[in-house]
Amino acid sequence: MTRDALLLGVDVGGTTTAAGAVTREGEVLVEQRVLTHRDGEGHALTTIIELLASVLGHAERSGHAVAAIGVGVPGPVDATLGRVGEHVPHVPELAGHPLAAELAERFRRPAFVDNDVNALALGEWMFGAGRGARSLVVLAPGTGFGAGIVLDGRLVRGAAGFGGELGHTPVKFDGPPCWCGGRGCLALYASGRGVAEAARARVAGLPDAPLLAAAGGDPRAITAPLVFRAAREGDAVASAVVDEACRALGAMLGTIVNGLNPEVIVLTGGVAESLVPLEAQILERAAEYAFRAALAQTRVTIVPGDKRTSMRGAAALAIYETERPLPSAG
Ligand SMILES: [Zn+2]
Repeated sequence: MTRDALLLGVDVGGTTTAAGAVTREGEVLVEQRVLTHRDGEGHALTTIIELLASVLGHAERSGHAVAAIGVGVPGPVDATLGRVGEHVPHVPELAGHPLAAELAERFRRPAFVDNDVNALALGEWMFGAGRGARSLVVLAPGTGFGAGIVLDGRLVRGAAGFGGELGHTPVKFDGPPCWCGGRGCLALYASGRGVAEAARARVAGLPDAPLLAAAGGDPRAITAPLVFRAAREGDAVASAVVDEACRALGAMLGTIVNGLNPEVIVLTGGVAESLVPLEAQILERAAEYAFRAALAQTRVTIVPGDKRTSMRGAAALAIYETERPLPSAG
């Protein structure tokens, strides 16, 4: 790979797909976004290919070489095969696709596919809050709850591509069933969907709840941002839900700090912005669970996420895959 060649980073989302031509320093030079299902359900692959072709053409016309393609997908991926897993509810037409091979053939360049938050973790490690660290963990609460782990300079993918699924590890062992099939998962308490559903459940028997009034009387209109805002304004129901979110995140930080002892933990994703004013509260909760000396050595930062950081992450995936040394035999 020539040193000045760009990488194409693609973040496939349930709503929007973004592609960028990114420098090796993480600067996004060309950027385009489209609605993932602009041509209707089932056509995301064509849309992704057209978007890539457009960004690639733009970069090349500006005189840049493009070395490789990285793609982040919202679901488990077999990154070794470059194959999307079977569970991608937001973009079901990609399920089982050998996406890396398809893109490599179409664009005649190396292409790599991984879970979007694994890519995000690589992006934060190479270009962002974890730059220079040997180990970091990224927690990304959005609608769901993704996470990614880099340990001693390697992305932890696990035996079946589920490495880093910390959003679906239990923080409450007798907690309620989760939509993933488990129970008591972190996602139930601290994802956007989890926070909204927890608040709806709490107002179910409270027709006079101010939170319900704030949602125009319709429990379905209660969203996570509304709950966080109401909690800041002192609403009792919202405050209880947010307190539980902070405790759940604190317990997860304790698990990460005691179990992996990374140098950096990054909280990002769509919910991160709502967590910024709660940082002290989350760290107080973490201190109830984590070894004091280990937590003291961990840099915890909250970085509100956006499409740009996700694109940069996908480009980081391409760099990671084209540059890392092959595992030594034996
Ligand atoms: Zn779960």
